[in-house]
Amino acid sequence: MRDMRRCSRSWAPCFLMVMVLLGASCRRVDQPAVGTQEPASQAAQPGEPDAITTSGGFEMVSIPGGRFAMGSTSGEDDEAPVHEVRVDPFLIDRYEVTQAQWARLAGQSEWLAGDPSHFKGANRPVEMISWDLAALYCNVRSRDEGFEPCYDEESGKCNFEADGYRLPTEAEWEYACRAGCDTDFHFGADAGLLGQHAWYAANASKKTHPVGEKKPNAWGLFDMHGNVAEWCNDVYREDYYRTSPAENPPGPEEGEQYVLRGGAWNCTADACRASRRVGEDPGFADACFARDAIGFRCLRRVPDDVDERAATTTAADEKAASPEQAEPEEDVADGDGAEDEPTTQDAEETMPSQAEKPTDPAQAHDPPRRVGFVYDDVYLEHQTGPSHVERPERLEAIVERLRETGLLAGLVRIEPRPAPQEWIATVHARDYVRRLEKSCEEGTRYFDSLDTTISDRSYEAALVAAGGVLAAVDAVMEGRIQSAFCAVRPPGHHALKDRAMGFCLFNNVAIAARYLQKKHKLRKVLIVDWDVHHGNGTQATFYDDPTVLYFSVHQFPFYPGTGAEGERGEGEGAGLTINVPLPPGCGDERFMEVFREKLQPAALKFQPDFVLVSAGFDAHEHDLLGGMTVTAEGFGRLTRSVREIADACCRGRIVSMLEGGYDLDGLARSVEAHLRALAE
Ligand SMILES: [Zn+2]
Repeated sequence: MRDMRRCSRSWAPCFLMVMVLLGASCRRVDQPAVGTQEPASQAAQPGEPDAITTSGGFEMVSIPGGRFAMGSTSGEDDEAPVHEVRVDPFLIDRYEVTQAQWARLAGQSEWLAGDPSHFKGANRPVEMISWDLAALYCNVRSRDEGFEPCYDEESGKCNFEADGYRLPTEAEWEYACRAGCDTDFHFGADAGLLGQHAWYAANASKKTHPVGEKKPNAWGLFDMHGNVAEWCNDVYREDYYRTSPAENPPGPEEGEQYVLRGGAWNCTADACRASRRVGEDPGFADACFARDAIGFRCLRRVPDDVDERAATTTAADEKAASPEQAEPEEDVADGDGAEDEPTTQDAEETMPSQAEKPTDPAQAHDPPRRVGFVYDDVYLEHQTGPSHVERPERLEAIVERLRETGLLAGLVRIEPRPAPQEWIATVHARDYVRRLEKSCEEGTRYFDSLDTTISDRSYEAALVAAGGVLAAVDAVMEGRIQSAFCAVRPPGHHALKDRAMGFCLFNNVAIAARYLQKKHKLRKVLIVDWDVHHGNGTQATFYDDPTVLYFSVHQFPFYPGTGAEGERGEGEGAGLTINVPLPPGCGDERFMEVFREKLQPAALKFQPDFVLVSAGFDAHEHDLLGGMTVTAEGFGRLTRSVREIADACCRGRIVSMLEGGYDLDGLARSVEAHLRALAE
């Protein structure tokens, strides 16, 4: 048996047959992949994947187990026959292992020292990686996170029972790549769309690119069809599919080569297909193809505690008298699991197209977008008193409306968590946070101002409100959804660094902007605030900040008194606060005009990496506080306008969150129109 470590050092110069394996045998896709007649194509649709970040800092997606049609009858001989395969659930890296991730663990084994990659860049995939090195890295990563390594470092044999990291089997890789799709690519059969999803010969300019720049597949995995080819755990054998087992096929026992999957920067479109297989020498000793096009990603079997947690959540959800929501996993909340799956078909049924079409005709045929929805019962526990307009019934009305109209079932439920203190502290003084916590504990009734009442659970609700928005941001960044609306309370846009006001405790939108910048490393955030009141807290947070464009349209003069046109930011942030004060009585047309003439040009010039919306609906014509005449459909139009900006600048990434809106019916209808517009 080979010694992994020895093999990994045998970097013989390689000239051989780069194109024999990938190029010469490649051919154009000339028909959609088969499989639609296969029983396996009826495979259970996996649910929305959950993403986790491991203790070592790797983002992984939890892929539910399931069946699928593996292989293709229209590809190379070794892709046939198409056969049904079932795989157990697993966690798989969202991205190809990057050079930064390699470097982090390289010090833990002399064999991993240095970055072998040809195309340097911390966020580029590591390449020039032999199978042995990839397997060794899995072991090092397992030890680093306290798991049992899977590979015997002398023989290279994999122990599938170990709980550590390993390379995916071919079946796991193809299942993850397809993400429920049985066509040549995870986005369908049209190779002409490959450029949106992969770096390959036609668009890569003969090099690798930072991971995650192209569109992910439906399960949130990036670069499955390109950038670098990926090692699988399996030994390669051309005719393996003729004899492979139907359950978790582990690959042949013996063989000279290992399997590579996925396309690479130097591949034709045909070589990037989901079912394409390539056998390659594991150590490059004899032959290889473009070593700088070979990398990998890691996989781990789903730990038992994750299963338990999922089960607990489902049971709790069933019991709770919480509003029904679209469950990512099969669920029995209404006794019919089929309705709970947020599939495209459901979304089509529940989200009819609107009168206004997307501006880009190329998008007219796109399926409805995946839209997230954040809600938690704890938001009802922020009690403001019997006569307060900012009351729990607001959220109940929203959820009830979404359920009645069938919209709820098509939304992707995002589970909120309390926001960690470190993220609250990016906007608020620690003293302020402690003071709020203490006031809630002590049963204080008013906090900082007479309009801002609290109860014993308000602190918790405020933490989960901010945390809900952060969870939505994560889900968008992970590619699980394109946009989300957060039905949270207490609201946030009036809250200052060290002072609550205007019913607001933590400034949710400001915290989300800081989170996008610090956690997700995005540079520029656009905040659109269409609440009828000026968002003084948000403005103050970013007044001298050149990385956040704050745009507010609001009634003026009005509470809280700020938001005159002359307030335009200062210092480096000069010009990046835009206030559009309007007199009472303005409606849909005036608001749309403001968005068209002021918001859109400024936003397109700013080119945000993400769009946040302080979505207050108190400019509604029936609102109890505001004096405007915007209709529910008007809010739908405003949403489309913002969506056009997000589409043009940042792949449609929008997270909106509830601020005001006090007429229950007007609020609920407006939120419905807002969500429909997000989903188109
Ligand atoms: Zn308001």
